[in-house]
Amino acid sequence: KRREGREHRYALFNPAMHARALADMEMERDLRRALERDEFVLQYQPIVRLDTGRVKGFEALVRWQHPEHGLVPPDRFIPLAEETLLILDLSRFVLAEACRQAVAWAAHFAEPPVVSVNLSGRQFISSQIADEVSDLSAQYGCPPSLINLEITESAILADKDMALAGMQALHARGFKLSMDDFGTGYSSLSYIHQFPFDYIKIDRSFINSLTEDVRTEAIVTAILRLAETLDKQVIAEGIETPEQHATLKRLGCGGGQGYLFSRPVDAPSALRLFQDAPWWDSANQ
Ligand code: C2E
Ligand code: MG
Ligand code: MG
Ligand code: MG
Repeated sequence: KRREGREHRYALFNPAMHARALADMEMERDLRRALERDEFVLQYQPIVRLDTGRVKGFEALVRWQHPEHGLVPPDRFIPLAEETLLILDLSRFVLAEACRQAVAWAAHFAEPPVVSVNLSGRQFISSQIADEVSDLSAQYGCPPSLINLEITESAILADKDMALAGMQALHARGFKLSMDDFGTGYSSLSYIHQFPFDYIKIDRSFINSLTEDVRTEAIVTAILRLAETLDKQVIAEGIETPEQHATLKRLGCGGGQGYLFSRPVDAPSALRLFQDAPWWDSANQ
């Protein structure tokens, strides 16, 4: 125990760590400023019905439109935003923007696209999450049925009871819920029936090796059967090739998302994809 303590003190003077801490502090300051200056934007990636090829919704994905570095992907700033709790402000922006967009799109269609929004585990620190989310969506006149909230297993892990309570309350208000990156964690199987998920999103690592490894096809088949038994819908993430698409269709997977259909795009392009779908069938099959 004492030795660990000494090593820890030593580590505080490690120059590499010092540099890292400085960089984090700078980044935190930049993130804060970016929020004030409205430098965050959403892109939308279509979620497609694999049987008909229609677009049924979009996943909203945040990017930082940096004045010097261009479009910065979320993996580069979400972790620090979560550490510093700036994620709470960022999440509010993302949800507000997604609601505004969902309502704007809904004005044009009898069956409007549903917009999926990623939640951070940090948002479940407060027991008020359901109130916060539904107050914000109400502010934009956005019915909960237009919003699908995506949660990963790691987001649940931080505080399982709090997450469960928050998600039950969100579900009761009519928001759709998805388990994101399904299969990457250790407890996916036990969470899937305890939590009120409507959708399971199979992680793209499975889709990646789907057509090269028969064992992966067996796993995906098992996930599809499990989902059917538990009455959950399935979205396959990261579909990049026509072969993966064809295999998932053959296995009876309901929905899919991936570069084969489209990369995440800005809102006007997303609207065109929605209106023109299915636009890839002739090209890829
Ligand atoms: P995610 O929620 O699993 O989102 C899917 C990610 O996979 C997106 O990356 C998307 O661009 C990427 N993707 C989609 N299709 C393909 C494909 O065919 N091949 C490959 N290789 N990748 C594909 P992105 O936009 O970089 O987001 C990464 C992660 O950052 C997201 O993973 C999510 O966990 C997080 N994130 C993004 N936006 C938000 C947000 O607004 N709030 C929070 N809390 N997290 C967010
Ligand atoms: Mg997601
Ligand atoms: Mg995912
Ligand atoms: Mg992910």
